[in-house]
This record gives sequence, C-alpha cells and structure tokens, in this order.
Amino acid sequence: MRQPIFALIDCNNFFVSCERLFRPDLENKPVVVMSSGDGCVVARSNEAKALGIPMGAPVYKWRQFFKDNRVVQFSGNFELYGDISRRITDVLASVTPQIEVYSVDESFLGLSELKIDDYRAWGRAVRDKIWQWIGIPVSVGVAPTKTLAKLAANHAKVHPALNSVLSLSPLPPQPERQRERFILSHSTAKNRVRIFPSDSVKGLSFHAWLRATPVQEVWGVGWRLAPRLQAEGVHDALQLSQLRPQHAQQLMGIHGRQLVAELNGLSCYPLEREGKAQKSIARTRTFGEDTGDIGSLEAALASFAAKAAFRLRVDHQLARRAGVFATTNKHKPGYQVWRRETYFPVPTADTGKLIASVVDLFHKFYNPHVKYHRAGVWLQDFVPVDHLQTDVFGSVNVAAEGRSKARMQTLDSINERFGRGKIRYAAEALGNKWEPKHRLRSPRYVTRWNELPVVHTLK
Ligand SMILES: [Mg+2]
Repeated sequence: MRQPIFALIDCNNFFVSCERLFRPDLENKPVVVMSSGDGCVVARSNEAKALGIPMGAPVYKWRQFFKDNRVVQFSGNFELYGDISRRITDVLASVTPQIEVYSVDESFLGLSELKIDDYRAWGRAVRDKIWQWIGIPVSVGVAPTKTLAKLAANHAKVHPALNSVLSLSPLPPQPERQRERFILSHSTAKNRVRIFPSDSVKGLSFHAWLRATPVQEVWGVGWRLAPRLQAEGVHDALQLSQLRPQHAQQLMGIHGRQLVAELNGLSCYPLEREGKAQKSIARTRTFGEDTGDIGSLEAALASFAAKAAFRLRVDHQLARRAGVFATTNKHKPGYQVWRRETYFPVPTADTGKLIASVVDLFHKFYNPHVKYHRAGVWLQDFVPVDHLQTDVFGSVNVAAEGRSKARMQTLDSINERFGRGKIRYAAEALGNKWEPKHRLRSPRYVTRWNELPVVHTLK
C-alpha cells in the first residue's frame, strides 16, 4: 500500500470571507460575524483580530469598542455560509473523491492515489482554483498524517511568506540550520512571535515547524489536555512528538499514543469519507425576546423538531428518543431549566409525529407565568432507515409507516424544489416571538430568489 498523504483545506476567517464575497468594499476593514441572536462573536477578520477582539467576545460588552473602531458587524447568515461551503466541497470533490468534510470550513483530502510531484505547487493550484471559482481564500497544509496536515495549514494561514501553502514531510531528517535557531529563539511557547521575518520561513525544517507550534494548538490537545502536558515540561509539538509512547498513553490514554505517532508521520487517523454518523441531533435557540406565549413556544419547538427531523431523513436514520428543554434567562434571578424526554417503540423520522411528541412533552412543564428565554429539541438513539423492514416482532404497522414515508418524501422534495420552508406544518407558524433577532444579517444572496444581489450598470 502507498504511504498515506493528506491535505487539509481550511477557509480563512470563513464567515467573514463569505460576507466579503458580496461586499468587496469590506476588504482590509475590521469585520465580525455574530452568533445566532447576536450574542457573541463567532468570526473575525484579520483586522478585527489585530484589534484584540477575542473569539466568543460577548457583543453587549464590546458594542462601544466596535463603534469606536468602526468594526463592521454582521448577524450570522448561516444559510449563506452553508451554501458557500457546499460549493467549496464540490470543487474539492472534483480534485479527488477522497474527501472528508471535517467542518463547515475545513476538509481533509486523501492524496495518495493522485500523481503529484510537487505538493507545494499542487496546494497553490487548489488554493487558486477555489479563489477563482468561489472567491474564498483558503490555507492548505499537506503532510503524511491528518494531525500534521492540520498543523501545516495553521502555519500556512499565519505566515504571509508561505503564500497560504505549507507541505511538511518528516523524512528525511534534515540538519537544522543556524538561522532557524535564531528565528525560533523568539518563538518559545511563553513568548512567541507568530509572524516570522518574511523571507526566513520557507526553508524551515520539519522539526522547526513542530517546535514553533505551542502544544495547545496541536489538533486533539486543546485547553483540557494542554495543562497536563505543560506540567510534564511539554510545551510544543516537537517535545510532544518526542514523548515515549507509553508515557503519552499514561497522560492522555490511547489517544496520546496515536498523537505521538501522528506527529512522527505515522498515520493513525484515516480519512472518514462517509462523515461520521451523528449520534444525536439537536436544534436549540435563544429567543428573540423572552416569552410565555404558548403559540410562540409551540411554534419554536415545532420548527426545531421539523429541522431536526429533516436532518435525520437526510442521514437515512430514524430516532428512538426525542427530548425537549427550556430555560429562563441565566442572567436573571430564579434561573430554571426543564427537561423531558420520550421513547418511541417504533423509531421514526416523521415530522408530524415528532412535533406532536415534543409539544406534548413541553406541556408537562409549561407554566404561562414563566418567561422562557431559550429552548431546544434533541433526537437520539438512531437506527438506519431499513431497520423497519427487518422488524421481526411484527410491531410495525407497515401500511402506516409506508404512508408516513411517502408524506415525508413529498414534503422534502417540494421544499427542495421551491425553497426551504415552502410547505411546513401549521404548528410552526403559531407565533413568531421566539424568532431570533438578526438585525444585521446580510441578504441570503444565493439561496433566496428575492435576496439575489442586484447589479447596477452606468449608462
Ligand atoms: Mg477556518
């Protein structure tokens, strides 16, 4: 078998880049995108990062700062981002079918089947293709393992001299040169300088890149494991790669042993092409305003259930369990949380059935004097769709299940053709007080006919 080789394609400041796609006037300006309900910052342009706005910054605390620094704010336009993300996946799938869509803005590609002589040139070609066809800037990391590809892409993103592409190869071991030692003396974990002098990064060796990566930035380490490693004197990826495998396993379980192998170029994490089957699906929202209005609350839960059920059908799964939660405002006195769940003897993906169950569950704790702030619906305990055909106990009403399936197929195909939400259950429309406020949302340029961008030409 050929030695595995992976590329990570990572979109730069993805949500902000999507906004800029239709607003080129925002290039070089500080831009932030906010979470649903405009609660906190979920994406920042480089200019916003340079101003010191942290990820997750609560918007109400930063409002004045945004104003003073002319930071352009957007409410999250997740429908737009999802559509752009799919377009990028399509481009990547035309490069190779060996693709794992890791998140909305990152995909791993398996390259071992492709004939590539120069990985850096290949990376640049992919970067240019996505830029020309879609208009989104990406960073590309290439390496023999996913952990190293991720590490390479992170460096490719922050060092302008790399032109967004870094290919890392642990073999053959190279003697480190004098100037690397000079550069890296400035980049210890404690006092690190992320941007190297521009002409000096290209020749850095594999070991130098590992040493320039703080341990908490290694994929799979994160804030939870990092303190444990730092206490052992492991501050960067190079030191982590030099841990004895047994020691790594003591510190982090089997995952630690795999991590050390991955950093040494031995692939332990294969490409997961089918996309991990989800173990649960949840749809939750903070309401636009706190409400005790039963119509609005039922509409919210119905809408969550409908979205979760749709997702379930896309995955060809049925759920055995559904649940509801609701809370009051955490920041007000008397904070309360309610949860209820139910079990379906015959697993289902039927929107009508799921709406009826979650609304029933909600009525078990609903109190008209309570102002609800946030709520959600979750589905769990999945079985594949064909499970019903192999029901050996005869507990399934085959005719009724057949009708349900046909109903859902009709619903999904109409909505696919005429736009999402074109037909929906009446329960979803009983009230709209729950709907999150997104005053600063940009038009959904590519998914709604009436929000298409308009081009004016001068006569
Ligand atoms: Mg990204």
